Amino acid sequence: MLSYDLLVVGSANADLVVGVERRPGAGETVLGSDLVVHPGGKGANQACAAGRLGARTALLARVGDDAHGRLLLESQRAAGVDTSGVLVGGAPTGVALITVDPSGDNSIVVAPGANARLTPADVRAAGRLFAAARVVSVQLEIPLETVAEVVRALPPDARLVLNPSPPAPLPPEVLAACDPLVVNEHEARYVLAGGPQPVGATPEEWAPALLDLGPRSVVVTLGERGALVAVRPPDGSPAPAVHVPSPRVRAVDTTGAGDAFTAALAWRLGLGDELPRAAAYAARVGAAAVTREGAQASYPTAAEAAAL
Ligand code: ADP
Repeated sequence: MLSYDLLVVGSANADLVVGVERRPGAGETVLGSDLVVHPGGKGANQACAAGRLGARTALLARVGDDAHGRLLLESQRAAGVDTSGVLVGGAPTGVALITVDPSGDNSIVVAPGANARLTPADVRAAGRLFAAARVVSVQLEIPLETVAEVVRALPPDARLVLNPSPPAPLPPEVLAACDPLVVNEHEARYVLAGGPQPVGATPEEWAPALLDLGPRSVVVTLGERGALVAVRPPDGSPAPAVHVPSPRVRAVDTTGAGDAFTAALAWRLGLGDELPRAAAYAARVGAAAVTREGAQASYPTAAEAAAL
């Protein structure tokens, strides 16, 4: 029977990038550099990262019947991802309009397009993909009701990995299904601010506070400092956070590092790694991804990640 190490349910965007000397004010026009178009979106990035590592990966997403959609599909196929679950049509492909100034600061407008039309019915119609998946990974660039349907569609023996990005309030049943909830520092602060716990001063205090909100396990990514992981003990005793360092690298572009980390983590968990070991592998993959320009273009093969 067909089986997947990882099913990613999420967004696919074309990133349209223009360099500018300065951003225009209201009513103003400025000239920019040549346009560069990259495949992006958190779902497509994660699937691409996992496929590049050699994971048997499928993507459930929606793109438009347009050139951007074809670019995204081509990038997935080149990474070895099964795209039979990518739905085409209903709206234009999602687009991120990105201006970058000389200091490297970004301004981004996202037009969700087809991502906003990935519906709970699309999830129910993809039962074949869910039945064949060990791990399902989802983010929040698709409608929240679709994310909630992913939780309902999860086979009993499959594991859910959720990265709440962009951050939004999560229903308790979604939080409770996360194993793990994967957050960067910004997302951790957001999720904690929505809960009853006071937000602790240090990430070491965040991990147990996040566990108290319901997930079975938590990973807080800390950029070059690696990640913290915590698993809820069966007896409910306080869960100590374990620090997982990241290899030291010369960072060139951190775009999409979190997506590479999460994809690698989800894959290794599905292969049976304990959380700290899976996170250590994911940290190598995240670190490798920051040594090259771009998001999907920067993702390493398993051999490249091992060589770090
Ligand atoms: P996000 O991209 O979501 O903001 P992070 O910046 O925390 O997430 O990065 C995700 C992971 O990628 C980190 O946990 C780390 O393993 C790796 N990483 C990111 N930036 C660096 C860096 N400068 N050096 C080494 N590893 C990095």
